[in-house]
Amino acid sequence: MTSTHETTTPADLDPANPFAAPSALPYGLPDFSVIREEHYEPAILAGMAAHRAEVEAIATNPEPATVENTLVALERSGQLLGRAARAYFNQLPSDSTPGLEDIQERLAPLFSAHRDAINMDARLHERVRALADAAEAGDLDLEPDTAYLVEKLMTQFKRSGIALSLGDQDTLRELNARITSLEASFGRKLLAGANEAGVLVTDEAELAGLSADAKAGARAAAAARGQDGWLLEMQLFTHQNVLASLEDAATRERVQSASMARGATGGENDTREVLLELARLRAHHAQLLGYEHHAAYIAADATAGTTAAVNEMLGRLAPAAVANARREAADLATVGGGSPSGGVAAADWSYLNEAVRKERFNLDDAALRPYLELERVLHDGVFKAAGLLFGLSFVERPDLPGYHPDVRVFEVFDAAEPGEPGTGLGLFLGDFYTRESKRGGAWMDSLVVQSTLLGEKPVVVNNLNIVKPPAGDPTLLVWDEVTTLFHEFGHALHGLLSDVRYPSQSGTSVPRDFVEYPSQVNEMWSWDPQILTSFAVHHTTGEPMPAQWVDTMLASRIWGEGFSTTEYLAAALLDQAWHQLTPDQVPTSVEDVLPFEAAALAAAGVDFASVPPRYRSTYFNHIFGGGYSAGYYSYIWSEVLDADTVQWYAENGGLTRENGEAFRRKLLARGGSQDPLVSFADLRGRAAEITPLLERRGLV
Ligand SMILES: [Zn+2]
Repeated sequence: MTSTHETTTPADLDPANPFAAPSALPYGLPDFSVIREEHYEPAILAGMAAHRAEVEAIATNPEPATVENTLVALERSGQLLGRAARAYFNQLPSDSTPGLEDIQERLAPLFSAHRDAINMDARLHERVRALADAAEAGDLDLEPDTAYLVEKLMTQFKRSGIALSLGDQDTLRELNARITSLEASFGRKLLAGANEAGVLVTDEAELAGLSADAKAGARAAAAARGQDGWLLEMQLFTHQNVLASLEDAATRERVQSASMARGATGGENDTREVLLELARLRAHHAQLLGYEHHAAYIAADATAGTTAAVNEMLGRLAPAAVANARREAADLATVGGGSPSGGVAAADWSYLNEAVRKERFNLDDAALRPYLELERVLHDGVFKAAGLLFGLSFVERPDLPGYHPDVRVFEVFDAAEPGEPGTGLGLFLGDFYTRESKRGGAWMDSLVVQSTLLGEKPVVVNNLNIVKPPAGDPTLLVWDEVTTLFHEFGHALHGLLSDVRYPSQSGTSVPRDFVEYPSQVNEMWSWDPQILTSFAVHHTTGEPMPAQWVDTMLASRIWGEGFSTTEYLAAALLDQAWHQLTPDQVPTSVEDVLPFEAAALAAAGVDFASVPPRYRSTYFNHIFGGGYSAGYYSYIWSEVLDADTVQWYAENGGLTRENGEAFRRKLLARGGSQDPLVSFADLRGRAAEITPLLERRGLV
């Protein structure tokens, strides 16, 4: 099977392969009722071959370059590859199998080589440059989105190493291929390691404090692996949610230790060797292209621009955040008769925090959960806010197939006026439950990207990791999961409300330090009194959440910001520390990984043992397994824009259709068709300011 790519041409793809022709389902939804694991690889390989042939035709076109024969032709190319690859890369993290993982291992270097072949094609570069030069000279009038496309393409060529010697280009290709396959290997080890790290409890007494649902889930998780007892499964981040409710300190300590040891336990799932090689190769790659290190290479293509700008922002926040966390620790240490100087173990933080929260704010996650039922939160919260702001409505389509029985498909309608049925805008797929085959975390993906050029409407997916209740029981959420639902839906809206010509500029195709911004903004609606009172209704009695609880929740929002900002910043600073190294500065021994981490945290002033980084290096999937290397700072960079936008909404009357329309047209719809900071300034009337964020997080 591995060698089929050598002989595959588009004509070789079995016409019965579901990817061979565009899907006949509404909105081009891939027909998951017939797609099988074995369809992905041949379709992707045939797609690569077809794409290469299309690009070859563009590059060798004897006619002089025009927008139509070069830019538009490029945008139209690669459709078979796009449809197969998007479906595959959606399913891989969400419902993986050993077979799908194997495909990834085989294809990763080919994808990398495929991208290189296009980005390093000198003939293509010449054609785009001819257009750029003509526009520059005033001989060619480009529409703004096309001009921006040309600018981005020229940057892409430069960053791909088109100006390098042929020998250096070969080195760069080898580096790209190796880096991509190391990233895949990191992700695979991490998933296997997380499954292995789950904490098995055999004495029920050790689970005191855990809700009946959580216990049932843990019981089922153990049973699913043929084990007796209760299996506490690992979430991706350091600080496991169960720590807030486990009464037994020894169990908490076991969970915390297992969580923090992931990736550094020796054996097959140890990630240290992989991450060291990644750090070294990325640094090498950056230097070949003329950047000091990987972080500088990444910042240059983001809205941040430079590493100095990133360091400056993180440096401004870190001392204030850690000081806040230390104050919170002193506060927590007094619980149960302790003294403020007694300190708080990381394993105990959530539990004590929950106790203080209950005492001070009289809030109890367990008591809140019956008021946070998934269907209500979805329909009367997430969808309702999108309706009031953007005029959207959602109709579930059980007739349309998902890639897993848990996946739900909704058709999204866009009403010009309230009360009108509206026109079909796209599809939204919700995949809410955790399962062994799904990676941790929550994310959005696109199966079809919006483009007026291709006449395609968006199909987007949200993945969450909510523990599935026993059959027939309602899905009751904790507040964090409610926020996550709104957050991921913010990404979905970015994809759904995209209104651009070129597919490469669609929706979330924006720099990564901007992409979290619309999703963070959408979180604000979970707190909006009108929305909150609509979805926070008791799932059996129908009674609204007591008004006093709502007030208390609002009042308690800033509580715990010291902890959460510090754990986040520690991870962001770690990411920068690894990626601000030159190749020869990267440690060479796996024994140096954790000491390097400790030293980096100390140097940045975030070495506060009570608050470990949100991800340690050895299980930091965002930066070593995925696309966020040197970019984890992006969340807080985006949050600067977010906090400023929340203020804009407040200044303009909050949750209104008019405000939603402005946010939609000036920002979401524009996608990556212009500089995103231009979109932001267009909405806000000025550049972003940092003060609203400092205020929000209690850091002023
Ligand atoms: Zn996000």
